[in-house]
Amino acid sequence: MTLCGTNISDETKAMLRKTAAKIVGTPGKGILAADESTGTMGKRLSQIKVENVEENRRQYRKLLFTSGDQMNKSIGGVILFHETLYQKDDNGKFLRDYLKEKGIVLGIKVDKGVVPLAGTFNECTTQGLDGLGERCAQYKADGCDFAKWRCVLKITDKTPSQLAINENANVLARYASICQQHGIVPIVEPEILPDGEHDLERCQYVTEKVLAACYKALSDHHVYLEGTLLKPNMVTAGHSCPIKYTPQQVAEATVTALRRTVPCIMPGVTFLSGGQSEEEATANLNAINNVPGIKPWALSFSFGRALQASVLSAWGGKAENTDAAKKALLYRAQMNNLAAQGKYEGEVAGGAAAQSLYVANHQY
Ligand code: 13P
Repeated sequence: MTLCGTNISDETKAMLRKTAAKIVGTPGKGILAADESTGTMGKRLSQIKVENVEENRRQYRKLLFTSGDQMNKSIGGVILFHETLYQKDDNGKFLRDYLKEKGIVLGIKVDKGVVPLAGTFNECTTQGLDGLGERCAQYKADGCDFAKWRCVLKITDKTPSQLAINENANVLARYASICQQHGIVPIVEPEILPDGEHDLERCQYVTEKVLAACYKALSDHHVYLEGTLLKPNMVTAGHSCPIKYTPQQVAEATVTALRRTVPCIMPGVTFLSGGQSEEEATANLNAINNVPGIKPWALSFSFGRALQASVLSAWGGKAENTDAAKKALLYRAQMNNLAAQGKYEGEVAGGAAAQSLYVANHQY
């Protein structure tokens, strides 16, 4: 076997490590995933009866990014959708600059969504490699230092197939390699959907197979693991599974799957919330951080729904609710900051935080 050919420079490697450390290197810091595509944002806004037009999306994202200076105690990075990166406030200031001023790292969703994978039972792959290098160069010039690409795998009697596992691992590795060539830290996201009746053991088994394939592909593509982040699902039972598991059981299964498959040099695991309620996601993250034994990576969050559900419901599209909505974001971020350090002690239940955020066959 020959050595790896042309690769990224030592300077780029140092830059990637620095970016990853800025996002998750401080205990408790995680990511706000605010990169919902226009269609997904429409679903979120329709729940609070707000029209899905650019102006409303701009108002909402501005609200998120101006939540207050405490935001950067819990949030190391924010993932944006293309539209948001170029939106401005009424005074012509880029919304992204509110984040940069707080020292929050800008991330960008660079995939172009899932498409069917022919020859499988309704499985999919993710598109967006065409022109990715050029888009990364532009995003880097416009201030983005990390990126997200979401792949989706499904658990049924017949899936995931080896084809879907291999194809998604390979496309994630290609994306990661292209990002790194442009000084961008790739978040590798192989999401296993929670749809189905499967139990915890089956989810753990599938998660291990998927993660093992991803790290084989990342190795094959010479991806510099120190300059990546992993965004996996937590290992949970299917949404329709009759057995209910405790956060400790979820945590044990999740950490075991990670220990068996994820190299210790990779700096951070930032879990997606995957339709769990805000409180459930926070409690599970806390339990994950309290599993005894070796955990060589930061174990933190990159939540979308589980950081925004109570914000959206507090806001309701009304200007007079802006302050309450900002408070809701800071509160959830703070709870997850504690959980990412294993210091969360629960909260007074009720309201949006306790509601399931499950969406069947979730798109992003
Ligand atoms: P959820 O936390 O809502 O699952 O979304 C996170 C995300 O960014 C999915 O790609």
